[in-house]
Amino acid sequence: MAKSGFVIRVGGIFVGIAAAVCAGGSDVEKLREMMVKHQIEARGVRDPKVLHAMRTVERHKFVPSHQVSSAYEDHPLPIGHGQTISQPYIVALMTELCELNGTEKVLEIGTGSGYQAAILSLLAKEVYSIELIEALATQAAKRLKDLGYRNVTVKCADGYLGWPEKAPFDVIMLTAAPVSIPQTLVDQLKDDGGILVAPVGDFFQELVRVRKINGRVYRETITHVRFVPMVPGSSSRN
Ligand code: SAH
Repeated sequence: MAKSGFVIRVGGIFVGIAAAVCAGGSDVEKLREMMVKHQIEARGVRDPKVLHAMRTVERHKFVPSHQVSSAYEDHPLPIGHGQTISQPYIVALMTELCELNGTEKVLEIGTGSGYQAAILSLLAKEVYSIELIEALATQAAKRLKDLGYRNVTVKCADGYLGWPEKAPFDVIMLTAAPVSIPQTLVDQLKDDGGILVAPVGDFFQELVRVRKINGRVYRETITHVRFVPMVPGSSSRN
């Protein structure tokens, strides 16, 4: 048996992650292909555009250097400051729930590494992303710029306030969990057909999708999840 952290069992196949990531090029593409096939498609994500985005974005460029060998494994990873980049399947599932067709203005709360923003940027027209921790916001903004994701704008702020100057949004995605859905964010959602996707709860969290139709809000629960909490910033504590 190989050392832990070096290999992962994906649908019965052992993959030398570290070797492939170090080798680069088509080997990393193969890892992404296996990630999509065994972790994402196998669990029911079907939208071809989402699968294509998951195959395209170089996840290993969004994780800390000591985590690169684990970038394509089937779990979240630490990105510093007590935060995590979500499991690939959860990123794909939440993206599919947004029903993007390429014309949308999207708000993400919780930029973290910038990975989810990069995925969204391939499927929407514009992405605005808010991160509370300044070091993560600065790093993600630089990373996204360096990697050529031109339609993503990151700012360091309290996501509970949303981004009123850019509202209304077609889609709002939260990647940190509030205890309940902030009304400010619902207010910044388009009245006709806006979609908000969020983990909601404290210890026990549900992944929720909210649709706003003619100003009325319809909520559905998708599955159970575990995200880092959406921390009230100083502005929302006042
Ligand atoms: N989407 C990220 C992962 C997010 S982890 C990725 O793809 O890597 C959740 C992020 O939400 C953390 O970076 C955390 O700092 C941020 N966060 C928590 N509370 C917040 C708030 N009130 N406003 C904005 N960001 C917040």
